[in-house]
Amino acid sequence: MNHYFMKKKKYIFLWSLFGSIVLLCCGCGQKEAQVQQKTDTAMGTVIRQSVYVTDRNSSVTEEVMELLRSLEQDTLSWRLETSEIYRINQTAGQKGTVNVSKELSEILERCQEVSEKSSGAFDITIGGAARLWKIDEGSADGAGKLPDREELTQAVKDSGYEKLSVREGQVSLPDGMQLDLGAVGKGIALTKIAALLEQHEEVGGAVISVGGSILTFGSRPEGGSWRVGIVDPADTSANIGWLELTGQWCVSTSGDYERYVEIDGVRYHHILDPKTGYPARSGVHSVTILMRDGLLGDALSTACFVLGAKEGMQLAKAYGAEALFVDLDGNISMTEGMEQYFHSFQ
Ligand code: AMP
Ligand code: MG
Repeated sequence: MNHYFMKKKKYIFLWSLFGSIVLLCCGCGQKEAQVQQKTDTAMGTVIRQSVYVTDRNSSVTEEVMELLRSLEQDTLSWRLETSEIYRINQTAGQKGTVNVSKELSEILERCQEVSEKSSGAFDITIGGAARLWKIDEGSADGAGKLPDREELTQAVKDSGYEKLSVREGQVSLPDGMQLDLGAVGKGIALTKIAALLEQHEEVGGAVISVGGSILTFGSRPEGGSWRVGIVDPADTSANIGWLELTGQWCVSTSGDYERYVEIDGVRYHHILDPKTGYPARSGVHSVTILMRDGLLGDALSTACFVLGAKEGMQLAKAYGAEALFVDLDGNISMTEGMEQYFHSFQ
């Protein structure tokens, strides 16, 4: 064996010894991440969680479910008597104002701003009209009937964000007005979930979906980016593509396939045009908004659905959000900034 080869062998030995020590040290300092997966229901929708934790006893996925349930029960639900929104709705038409929590007051004010900027395409005061469609019960009489036209016209007259007064924790609703935070609840939840995950040291990364709204958080243990699929609105078992994301994002999608009733062979979906009280017909099949802020992203997805691709794109840009529209013929259009995140299967 020549001298050169001996030397090389020695170096290889020393390097591999050094490598093992480095690996061992890394191993001592870091606990291995494992994924906790949980699927459950809350806020009237399916919740899917994949959370990477370094402590197998972490209770984080249960805490997320508790957070969602209390957000629904204490604050957002129009259905549950325990919630603030329910209580406020009961006061419609009463003289004077009603006190609301700081959190809800801020939510309502932010919603009002989106209503103004979207010229009323987004409007949380459409509760009366939304209830008449009874989409969750299968239709207006549960047997394929449209809502009564006069009742719907009256509900539209009773709604209108300009008539809702929200000021310094005081709210007053005119007679007949009913609030419905269904268009922002999922987004509000995502931002709260992100704050909860932040408090858990053992959480390195997560992807959590609340119905059509998805949160990405932190990073994958093996590195690389998160992939969030975008559903094909014409065939919801398939995706048209995916968004490649790193770190914290909220991805909110509004689509006509999410909730609807079928009456005489016609589909009536759950996103209403506040001007008519009927499902919005803007040529949009689905719209996805990518934003850091959950409430805004969710509000904008609904607003952009009502406005249609052209005006919706302008609104998204005004908020610095990225948007992707799929029209009723399956054509895709998006903001310039979205192009760097979106990968198409087509
Ligand atoms: P999303 O799936 O986020 O688009 O929210 C749709 C839900 O928001 C519906 O089920 C209604 O409860 C409510 N909603 C429907 N149309 C509107 C609208 N134009 N503005 C605000 N909320 C709406
Ligand atoms: Mg929405």
